Amino acid sequence: MAVVLAGTWKEQEGLRRMAASLSSGRGISSGAGSFACPDCHKTYRYKRNMVSHLRFECNKEPQFCCPYCPHRYKQKATLTSHVATKHSGMSFFN
Ligand SMILES: [Zn+2]
Ligand SMILES: [Zn+2]
Repeated sequence: MAVVLAGTWKEQEGLRRMAASLSSGRGISSGAGSFACPDCHKTYRYKRNMVSHLRFECNKEPQFCCPYCPHRYKQKATLTSHVATKHSGMSFFN
């Protein structure tokens, strides 16, 4: 299972590097994406993310149901991490 190592020097180093890259002004610090969903106007930095939002998220019912509880998710990755964190110890893929 995923172990969160909060406050390790590695993480602090990563945060410092992230802050440095954000402040270097490479066009990613504004927070606004370049590709906007035509339906809900949510913006994405990458077109593929906007397209997958349109296909799987926008105005869609959640398609991925948790096998252990009534939660449902629009993205398989979200469901997988939900299962990993909330139902750790149970095997999802068997
Ligand atoms: Zn949308
Ligand atoms: Zn669940």
